[in-house]
Amino acid sequence: MGQRYRAPAESVGSQRYAVIRVSLAALVTIYLLLFLAGVFLFWIVGEWNRRRRERRALQHRLRCVICAFEFEDRTDALLPRCPHCGSLNERFRMENI
Ligand SMILES: [Zn+2]
Repeated sequence: MGQRYRAPAESVGSQRYAVIRVSLAALVTIYLLLFLAGVFLFWIVGEWNRRRRERRALQHRLRCVICAFEFEDRTDALLPRCPHCGSLNERFRMENI
């Protein structure tokens, strides 16, 4: 009866040992994956923030269609007037080249 009891305990112990070895490898893998995911996430968030900042900076920026003068207009006028040549301009969205 004692032997019967000991044999399963040993097998459980060796199984646990095997499980620990596998889980260590899995732990390292999970750690690496989490680290890479974190770096990727930081990169995505940084890129998103940079684009949003860029878009916000160009939001009030206009280029005159007559003289190509770039100016900033923060009023809500439908047709802002160019300070260089005085012509009225439509609000085109500025695109980064
Ligand atoms: Zn102009």
